[in-house]
Amino acid sequence: MKTVTDEEAARHKAKMAKRKAVQDAEVASKTVEKGLLIVNTGPGKGKTTAAFGLALRMLGHGKRVGVVQFVKGAWHSGERDAFAAFGDRVVWHSMGEGFTWETQDLARDIAAAQAAWAKAGELLADPTIGLVVLDELNIALRYDYLDLVSVVETLKGRRGDLHVVVTGRNAKPALVEAADLVTEMGATKHHFAAGVKAQQGIEF
Ligand code: ATP
Ligand code: MG
Repeated sequence: MKTVTDEEAARHKAKMAKRKAVQDAEVASKTVEKGLLIVNTGPGKGKTTAAFGLALRMLGHGKRVGVVQFVKGAWHSGERDAFAAFGDRVVWHSMGEGFTWETQDLARDIAAAQAAWAKAGELLADPTIGLVVLDELNIALRYDYLDLVSVVETLKGRRGDLHVVVTGRNAKPALVEAADLVTEMGATKHHFAAGVKAQQGIEF
């Protein structure tokens, strides 16, 4: 283990005091309060789970949360059951019929996406909700199941203090452009490639 001399301790203290001043000035320079449009995209794992992490954080502050799942619905997930424990503080709509290669029915996929977007509209208009999660909306936009321009306009026109998280691979450039915060999850390594199947509590 590293031992610390008096001189090193003094130098460290002076350096940290300087750093704190810089840090404090940086924090003080940020004054804007706003509801954020957040996009979690990219090929790596963590888009949906990060969105639900924010949902949990909101709930911790006593806020209500709305969730629309555009693709999932046909199967159950641990998060859905866990959020059910919050009662009516979480409004949850799983509107998907499954992956496109599962349904194999284009008209049905489009109808499901449109029904999900209608539910999303209700949640976006609900003044008691602080965060809306639109899980896999990017997938519905990618396949043009929804009109990109009107979706982006609706999201931009959200209430000033409403936070919205959109997840899914291949976020459309127009949505990225409209967003305040965009995170690209990178696929550095994934266990699927090593033959590991979907694990309970990790994938669902
Ligand atoms: P999660 O729900 O775990 O946060 P995600 O939302 O980032 O994942 P999706 O694109 O929605 O990922 O894919 C859902 C499933 O696909 C997850 O179970 C995830 O583990 C898996 N997955 C994500 N990225 C990869 C990848 N690069 N290769 C293989 N499978 C992946
Ligand atoms: Mg996902």
